[in-house]
Amino acid sequence: MIEFTKQKDFFVGIDSDGCVFDTMELKHKECFIPQFINYFELQGVSKFAREAAEFVNLYSKSRGCNRFLALMEQLDWLAKRPEVVARQANIPRLASVQQWIDSETKLGNPALQQAVEAGDDADLARTLAWSQEVNQTVAKIVRNVPPFPHVRSALEKLFSQADMLVVSATPNEALETEWNDHDVAKYVRAICGQEAGTKKETLALAADYEPSHRLMIGDAPGDYQAAQTNDCLFFPINPGAEEASWQQLSTEGIERFFSGAFAGDYQQQLLDTFDRYLPENPHWLTNA
Ligand SMILES: [Mg+2]
Repeated sequence: MIEFTKQKDFFVGIDSDGCVFDTMELKHKECFIPQFINYFELQGVSKFAREAAEFVNLYSKSRGCNRFLALMEQLDWLAKRPEVVARQANIPRLASVQQWIDSETKLGNPALQQAVEAGDDADLARTLAWSQEVNQTVAKIVRNVPPFPHVRSALEKLFSQADMLVVSATPNEALETEWNDHDVAKYVRAICGQEAGTKKETLALAADYEPSHRLMIGDAPGDYQAAQTNDCLFFPINPGAEEASWQQLSTEGIERFFSGAFAGDYQQQLLDTFDRYLPENPHWLTNA
């Protein structure tokens, strides 16, 4: 576990991908999805594989979830899709990966590598190879993506009274690079990626602060669930309207948070708006 002791009166957890940085489209469309199609032999149904992966990772309530959970969900959607069934495509079901997910709490490459070395399982090995190649592709392709407008002014204001922590499902190495390259690491006390545990586990560090002094900022329902579990307030960065969300946080939300006028009606309004941004079901079901 990371070293983190309370220094200020307020606590703020901040998600990174799709929240501070506009990296979601780039990472998924250029890095995750091409490797998904390649490593899981989905060439013959590549269009549907892409749509399933985009839906799960970008445009659904699962947006922003851990990559291994997303992998299982996108294969599931893909296997059920009528056009894929009609093509009699062989969609891998990765039973051993599901078993690993069910028994492991640190769903990252280090834990998966141990599982691969402990046995002789082709699906675990292939999933690790995919995940490692994704990291290499991200390192090669993702650059020049600055924080969203209004992020800096918001972090400046929060920094005056809050201990801040990056709470993310991205590998630590990529997070360190992004936060340092764009000179925003100086605002946070620590950077906690997927190797540190789930967002729910990491946000447990908020327990030293009064509930009304704990805030999570995120762009995905999983961020909100992690906040709820740890009795934190939640400010949503709405997918597709990130700039307006950060502006609202910077000009109004932070003041409300510091003055105790955030919980209740204001929180509920934010959540109601957020809920309308992401669907439960993919377009190929709703338009059918
Ligand atoms: Mg995110």
